[in-house]
Amino acid sequence: MTKYFGQFGGQYTGEVLKPALLELENAFLHILPSELFQKEYSMLLRDYVGRPTPLYFAENTTKDLKGAKVYIKLEGLANTGAHKINNALGQVLLAKKMGKKRVIAETGAGQHGVATAAAAAKLGLSCEVFMGEIDVIRQQPNVFLMKQYGAKVTTVTDGTKTLKDAVNRTLKEWANCSDYTLYILGSALGPYPYPDIVRTFQQIIGQEIKKEILSREGRIPDMLIACCGGGSNSIGTFTPFINDSVSLVAVEAGGRNKDIGNHAVRMNGNGKLGIIEGYKSFFIQSDEGQVLPTHSISAGLDYAGIGPELAFLGQKGRIKFESATDEEVLNAYQYFARKEGLLFAMESAHAAAYALRIVPKLTKEAIVCITMSGRGDKDIFITAKALYADEWKKFLKREGA
Ligand SMILES: *Cc1c(COP(=O)(O)O)cnc(C)c1O
Repeated sequence: MTKYFGQFGGQYTGEVLKPALLELENAFLHILPSELFQKEYSMLLRDYVGRPTPLYFAENTTKDLKGAKVYIKLEGLANTGAHKINNALGQVLLAKKMGKKRVIAETGAGQHGVATAAAAAKLGLSCEVFMGEIDVIRQQPNVFLMKQYGAKVTTVTDGTKTLKDAVNRTLKEWANCSDYTLYILGSALGPYPYPDIVRTFQQIIGQEIKKEILSREGRIPDMLIACCGGGSNSIGTFTPFINDSVSLVAVEAGGRNKDIGNHAVRMNGNGKLGIIEGYKSFFIQSDEGQVLPTHSISAGLDYAGIGPELAFLGQKGRIKFESATDEEVLNAYQYFARKEGLLFAMESAHAAAYALRIVPKLTKEAIVCITMSGRGDKDIFITAKALYADEWKKFLKREGA
């Protein structure tokens, strides 16, 4: 089995976690591929998640941009509003088949926590989500949703009180209770076997794109575009096409500008090789290995590290890495709302923003597919504040009174 992608990946954890990771590896290799598991997972994807999600021909955009034909994969129409449910549901089902009674998860923006809490509710496991104190304050709507799904949300007050402290706390917790608990990890990163597990559960995105586009166009697209935080929706989109002649573009958070603390671009020479949270990859860090602050208008793309397989494929040149700024992202969000009646999540709008740049430069024969990893309803506190500051502030003030 792959423990490394080139020099990236691995399993850099303390000895106390090794038995739990070995048990998970066994479940990944033997339970997950079994017919019984696959049958139940497929049924859940169909009836509970709502798969296959549509591959939508963006006719108005195609006409307007006068370049390539544009398709959009609507992961935002999946239950809970984003692709994260594909993975959360798969891992929670795996936990159940492993005989576990409880799942735990880390969450930053809260999207993975919400997906895990929903999946645990559906499958009847108890769920505890660890979240940094600062994120708990910033992401109240998602804290509320997790509680509605019956999860316990535990505030982490260690260190910087954000995602990386939540990850450390969850790993520590897991080491103490792995006999009845599984750690549900949210992106294509962390120690082996997590990057492989997450890719396995997310490649349904690319598989569905391939099947649908073949039946409609008789051929595969020329370019696939997906946003890239940890990298789960992008690796899920790209994996079924990795050996095809298709250009693969992952879009990182360009933020406000190129200064440290104002973006979350890890590739193209911005990140440094390091080992953090159990895996080796590029991280936005100082020469001393201290993780540095990041920024993005999208809470899901402001992570300092990148999944090891993405880093590897990027270094090899198989995946091209681009970035989009906060401003471009807001423009793309408004463009697709007005042109297509589609509300992109701020994360996914990074892919949309790059599409707006590249599509007019391509020929009419070309086909481009954008992955809309999530829908933008969740972002109203960010988008409304950015676009209609005065009205929104008045509204919040009135509600608070
Ligand atoms: C979390 C999230 C992302 C970023 O995570 P990846 O692992 O890079 O996919 C992107 N889009 C949405 C809607 C998210 O919730």
